[in-house]
Amino acid sequence: MNKLLILVVEDDSSVRNLITTTLETHGYRFRTASNGNSAVMEASSHNPDIILLDLGLPDIDGVDVIKKIRTWSNVPIIVISARSEDTDKIDALDAGADDYLTKPFSVEELLARLRVTQRRLAIMQNDGQTENPVFINGDLKIDYAAGCAYLKNEELHLTPIEYKLLCLLSHNVGKVLTHTFITQKIWGSSWDNDIASLRVFMATLRKKLESAPGSPQYIQTHIGVGYRMMKVE
Ligand code: CA
Repeated sequence: MNKLLILVVEDDSSVRNLITTTLETHGYRFRTASNGNSAVMEASSHNPDIILLDLGLPDIDGVDVIKKIRTWSNVPIIVISARSEDTDKIDALDAGADDYLTKPFSVEELLARLRVTQRRLAIMQNDGQTENPVFINGDLKIDYAAGCAYLKNEELHLTPIEYKLLCLLSHNVGKVLTHTFITQKIWGSSWDNDIASLRVFMATLRKKLESAPGSPQYIQTHIGVGYRMMKVE
């Protein structure tokens, strides 16, 4: 049913074929690029809905591809990286990627990431019309104008930093935010101490927000990377 156009950027033809076959089977349209320069050209001329981007490309670095595309487009970008490229993955997220897949990945993982991104896309398109003063996600409601958050219509008693964190995550629902990005936004700096404080504030926020903090529904932890607010159905 979904006829989204996915741009697949991957120089390894076997991985590229696995991805395109999966996309085809599940009703997506796709275009492909096997290097960074043609990825940038494809992105500008065909306006894809989602980009799947391998970070290790033969010509230009995947992170530079993201930076170029981000100068004119907010298209969701899911990066694909090898396990040894953990820092690249974090650089990619900081450069504006939305999510990541680590090689080797399964078809199910790929489809799950696409579904998360599609939900994010729907939210981005709605928000593009009007700046929504109220955010609703499952039982969570944030009234940005009033500066209050509610869970099942009961006000959450959040500290200013917890509230700031919650707003930051909600503005980027569906997107993985790195520790560096979050600490920069909250404290304007990103020292190891800030990242340690972030963990503490995140734990207290979750205690108030999640009914089972051990298996969180709203805020996902990406170990060594950061956090993401999930769209709750
Ligand atoms: Ca590669």
